[in-house]
Amino acid sequence: MNYASELRRVYEACLPFVGEGKVADYIPELAGVDPSYFGLCLHEIGGATHSVGHANVPLSIQSISKVLTLAMVLPQNLDSFERVSVEPSGDPFNSLVQLEYESGIPRNPFINAGALVVTDMLIAREAQPKEAILEFVRALSGDSSIGFNLEVAESELATAHRNRALAHLMRGFGNLQADVERVLDVYCHHCALEMTLEQLVHAFAFLCRGGRSWGREVMPLRAVKRINALMLTCGFYDEAGEFAYRVGLPGKSGVGGGIITVLPGHFVLGAWSPGLNPKGNSKLGMRALEMFTDNTGLSLF
Ligand code: GLN
Repeated sequence: MNYASELRRVYEACLPFVGEGKVADYIPELAGVDPSYFGLCLHEIGGATHSVGHANVPLSIQSISKVLTLAMVLPQNLDSFERVSVEPSGDPFNSLVQLEYESGIPRNPFINAGALVVTDMLIAREAQPKEAILEFVRALSGDSSIGFNLEVAESELATAHRNRALAHLMRGFGNLQADVERVLDVYCHHCALEMTLEQLVHAFAFLCRGGRSWGREVMPLRAVKRINALMLTCGFYDEAGEFAYRVGLPGKSGVGGGIITVLPGHFVLGAWSPGLNPKGNSKLGMRALEMFTDNTGLSLF
């Protein structure tokens, strides 16, 4: 497969749609992002990386970071991962409704409530959780320059009313141990990680390589299998079915407009376009990924 030419073909076919969708503005600092960014980047299991468009411009990874924090806590808790369920929610990422009637147990680790519990688990384990996250992500991507965008983190912290509500509700149910503001601070920082598509596809390579990154084991295969399964069933919230139907790959989106997908044993493929659809997933990103798997036949199915 000539990945470079397949990527270029998709990129060119998508150019007329650049700017479609609506940039997230509920986090004030994200509202000013240029909607005309568009990039694709594919990292092959063999080691080569192919880029087209804005694959080297840093983006706010937002909810894509939830996979990375999960990867930090899941391996040690594989047999006792009970504070978060593993079912698709069918609800928006910031919804409060299920949490009340399911007694403070979030449906999965990729909706905000679930990611807040994962962050709480990280806080219980790490003396300096933000530094530990940076260290983990830098090691995975092989790039020590990766950092948080502090303006984005502060901007979200100042307006995180729904996330605060989710956290308080869970604290009330006894499913959050650390102080709510502490959990929000760490959560908003990991969402404010700034990475390029190239850094992202390298960071996610362990999910394609059976848990190995740069020749070192990050986690066992049985943890990789579960994270990829969660990305397929829950990575796109109330659009997870649509994404599996159209693209057919495990993946994770963020409201910064990034999407990372994995075909285990083959490649990691990322797309970035800041314009979102009403479900909070990149509109052009989904279009491009759908086109890629349609054209190449390379999906899970
Ligand atoms: N930080 C964002 C939030 O909590 C992440 C949401 C997303 O990317 N879907 O609302």
